[in-house]
Amino acid sequence: MNKRMRQLVCSTALIALLTVTPGIGSAASYTVQKNDTLWLIGTKYSTSAEQIKKLNGLHSNSLVIGQKLIVPDPREFTAASVLPNDLMWKIAQRHNVPLDKLLAANPKMNPNNIWAGLSIRIPKKPAQYLNGVFPLAKGTYTPFSNSYADARFWSGDGPEVRSHEGVDIMAAKGTAVYSAMAGTIVKAGWNDLGGWRVTIRVDDNTEFYYAHLSKYAAGIKEGTKVKAGQLIGYVGSSGYGPVGTEGKFVTHLHFGIYKRTPAYQAIDPYLYLKWWAL
Ligand SMILES: [Zn+2]
Repeated sequence: MNKRMRQLVCSTALIALLTVTPGIGSAASYTVQKNDTLWLIGTKYSTSAEQIKKLNGLHSNSLVIGQKLIVPDPREFTAASVLPNDLMWKIAQRHNVPLDKLLAANPKMNPNNIWAGLSIRIPKKPAQYLNGVFPLAKGTYTPFSNSYADARFWSGDGPEVRSHEGVDIMAAKGTAVYSAMAGTIVKAGWNDLGGWRVTIRVDDNTEFYYAHLSKYAAGIKEGTKVKAGQLIGYVGSSGYGPVGTEGKFVTHLHFGIYKRTPAYQAIDPYLYLKWWAL
């Protein structure tokens, strides 16, 4: 058996071992198998070795067979079967999701033509901020994947490996950026890493971070209150250097979520963004 085949067989066996951990919204448990590496496990869960390390508080790359790891469950949908005489609103009610989100999660389906046994996608609810607004308008951005905890290398003190603390969404320079939730602007202005950025406190413990803007909307400054869906600025490629640096990477919006306690730290914003994008 060649290496690729072995990996395939191995990964099939491993998927069977996956169990969802109750109480952790979007995480699962994984048992380390022979020949596993952090990279391989990351690949299985559409994430990076860095994210696996971070989730588990690991400081080295070595693994032990049988070791239990927390892994992200990146799926923004679960599958469900249509019941006899089912209707979309009944399915929405049964799974406790809004009908419009359920319909948006199944764009190719004709809601008036469903039958028993048909598989449909149930969108996964994030832990909070269910009424959030996606920060870019439909049709103005490229489909995005989860780049949270990917390796990034730029720092103000020269190259160093760090964990990406948000999700990047590709969009053209000048694309309008909207506040995902109501809140108060606690930071606006230049930051060497994030360029022209805005940090908005949406509740006592949570801040949303928008980075690499080309320009701010009128009135965007520290202390200003914003509403959900309010224009805050425009996509750009600012950052990675002193004030005014731009073009060091392709234009995109970097969106991050930070919790203030117990320690100021980033959380994975992916499921939130996917839910808002529906
Ligand atoms: Zn980023």
